[in-house]
Amino acid sequence: MMAYDLTLQAVLERALRLYSKKEIISRDFSGIFRYTYGDFYKRTLRLANVLQDLGITKGDRVGTLAWNNHRHLELYFAIPISGAVLHTLNLRLGPEQLVYIINHAEDKVIFVDKDLLPLLQSIRDQLPTVEQIIVMSDTLEIPPCGLANPLSYEALLAGARETFSYPDLSEWDPAAMCYTTATTGSPKGVVYTHRALVLHCLAACLPDCLNLHEADRVLPFVPMFHVNAWGIPFACTWLGATQVFPGARPQAEDICRLIEDHKVTLAAGVPTIWMATYPLWESGKYDPSSLREIVNGGSAASVSMIRNYREKLGVPILHAYGMTETTPVVLVSRPKSTMENLSLEEKYQLSAKQGLLVPGLEMKVVGEDGREIPWDGKTMGELLLRGPWIAKEYYKDPVRSQDSFTEGWLRTGDIVTVDSEGYVGIADRSKDLIKSGGEWISSLDLENTIMDHPAVLEAAVIAIPHPKWDERPLACVVLKQDYEGLVEAQDILDFLRGKAPKLWIPDQVEFIEAIPRTSVGKFYKAALRARFAEAASALQTSEAPLRAKA
Ligand code: AMP
Repeated sequence: MMAYDLTLQAVLERALRLYSKKEIISRDFSGIFRYTYGDFYKRTLRLANVLQDLGITKGDRVGTLAWNNHRHLELYFAIPISGAVLHTLNLRLGPEQLVYIINHAEDKVIFVDKDLLPLLQSIRDQLPTVEQIIVMSDTLEIPPCGLANPLSYEALLAGARETFSYPDLSEWDPAAMCYTTATTGSPKGVVYTHRALVLHCLAACLPDCLNLHEADRVLPFVPMFHVNAWGIPFACTWLGATQVFPGARPQAEDICRLIEDHKVTLAAGVPTIWMATYPLWESGKYDPSSLREIVNGGSAASVSMIRNYREKLGVPILHAYGMTETTPVVLVSRPKSTMENLSLEEKYQLSAKQGLLVPGLEMKVVGEDGREIPWDGKTMGELLLRGPWIAKEYYKDPVRSQDSFTEGWLRTGDIVTVDSEGYVGIADRSKDLIKSGGEWISSLDLENTIMDHPAVLEAAVIAIPHPKWDERPLACVVLKQDYEGLVEAQDILDFLRGKAPKLWIPDQVEFIEAIPRTSVGKFYKAALRARFAEAASALQTSEAPLRAKA
């Protein structure tokens, strides 16, 4: 066979040759912007020339501080096809972490959406490697800001050549990078090669995976700064699928409106957004009927959410799992053809698992003794992965790389069970796992069961220290508005009895206003543990159970 390099250059060329008339839709600063793949291609090549003129050479890191929009898509291709590395900056990171990742990656240029200028300006004097800042807006004007000599994206594009000669690239060349959303310690960088991105696209498109088609109209709510929006912009461009970008600060109403107006068939994001859109669709305010599927990832989808979406809205939720280190898609939960006779409820339970390993990857699950655990759906162990789109190290971080990458495997830090059919269920992050009297308790399973209570909007379960059992679970529960003040801790505990093993039933239930979240919308359990640490130390001194707030 030919020694053919898998690079994003060929992905872009296919979009032009075959789909130049298909559309890309973007919620821009001043309204909806639409153009074709043909126009997108021309602007992307202009942008590649701009990068060259700015002195960007092979291997240079180029930062993007931007929302999900068409300009960000142009950067997704222009930077890698010219041999540079697309470094997507998480715009929800605090200034300190943002400074850390820009300096660690040594970004040479940063492209920034105009409304994020104040954030960049506040840290500008701490970024010695950044030579140029380019402001992205739908006009040629740059809003007043304290930055020295910022350039306008649209002005640069207007003056650039439309033909570009691709540099020779190897599939092993770096194309993109992303830092983990560390909740403790500094973020860790992961570099994606062209080869990894292209192979990941192939797998993501498979019918048993995300099942993407040319005819799809895809809305990635998952931010483009987070693991390449799960690879969706690359895969959709390759296929010529219509892309619908939600733009700056999208709220649940914006998402519902975009889905309805642009007949979106597939939307992807974390559960937080699907919990927020649900009431808007259930009340009939918006119409979700164009959706053939919603991809939920990043955090667990609860059975109740999967059931409600299916039964009340007629929209299936596809549960997927991945991480920054895995490009990201690793597991997808679809029932096998041999499972047709499962009851509806059993199918919902199955969909709430993270699912089956996608073709192309290998996994093993090991217990504390390092040996593989039985696939019995009960025994827990750590998920280890290897394959062509799994990272082999953290960027410039040999010490932390040693902890996570051992003997050719990535240690995910996720504690899972595997059932006899091979479906993986995440029990916990290893740091969130609750160990009580020598037994592991899955906080995710408990949360899932609590969220089945009709009064519960969401729930997070954390470990708190216990003098006798080492740790005990504490449930933090957010009630639906209509039920506030009407539900007691005991009601939640009674609901759990018979549904969870006795040892797992939390000792306390705390009703709180909202679950704290990380910069990408996941439960931030470290913050909850800090908040309830006082309660925990009270328990250390007296064994009396804590009183739950009414
Ligand atoms: P990140 O690198 O920020 O994308 O975080 C990756 C982590 O998110 C994984 O290691 C899991 O702990 C968690 N995660 C991702 N997808 C899921 C899912 N479908 N269900 C539960 N946890 C998930």
